[in-house]
Amino acid sequence: MSYDWNVLAADPMTNAPIGACDHQQSFERYVVNPYDHRTLNYAGNPAINQRAPINGASAVQIWISEEPIKVSDPIYGWQVVSDPDRVQVGTDATFYKIVFNNPVRLVIPLIEVSYITVQDYCLKCSTLGSLNDFKPANTGSFIHVTQVNKLAQKALKWVLTSQDAFYPTFVCLLKSYLGRKLSATVSDTDIQTEVLNALTTMQQVQQAQGTVQTLDPQEILKNIVSVSATIDPDDPTQVIVQATISNYSGQTVPLGLTVSINT
Ligand SMILES: [Zn+2]
Repeated sequence: MSYDWNVLAADPMTNAPIGACDHQQSFERYVVNPYDHRTLNYAGNPAINQRAPINGASAVQIWISEEPIKVSDPIYGWQVVSDPDRVQVGTDATFYKIVFNNPVRLVIPLIEVSYITVQDYCLKCSTLGSLNDFKPANTGSFIHVTQVNKLAQKALKWVLTSQDAFYPTFVCLLKSYLGRKLSATVSDTDIQTEVLNALTTMQQVQQAQGTVQTLDPQEILKNIVSVSATIDPDDPTQVIVQATISNYSGQTVPLGLTVSINT
């Protein structure tokens, strides 16, 4: 087996985005409102309650002085209630606030709250919705890509690599088509041909590799099942490229990309 860093945008088997942010906000600091001793105010801006909308009250976690506090705690029990007073211009997000069931008078309390918010308020992904491909995973290491995902990633690398000083014959012209006009010199058929050539070269290289090193059967391109390039009927500047390849574990792997051209 060999591995590589995962740079795919979507899982080829499920089409689910890779690196999608769960919008989990961790250990935000809060203080108890000094007047009612029950409502939490955001420590970074005590004029507001919850910094961001809470998406799912059941996912809220609270710690006081690093001790987790259950919703039903006899002293520090709390609930999530709506915050109708919070009106945020330019959003229709619904805000909530966290309220202790009983007054809590803590001296220098450290109250931390973890919860899931919505994309527009997410500090984890900076509202982008996805995390950087190379952001270390929770374990502190990079996410390795293996097996089918690796095959998909490798195939896309072959298709999208436009320059190689050492192996000029391994270059796919696809990238040089970007921004060009579809015309007699570049057609959707050319795009299809380039993708097919790149995948064929990859297949040949892997077969040569297989004679000197052991590859995971799931990572080896067996057949190029189909390659198509079609002009998007709704937008003639977009050529939709779809390919399906198979591996030696009997799986098929869909690949897809869109080439933007000028009209
Ligand atoms: Zn996020």
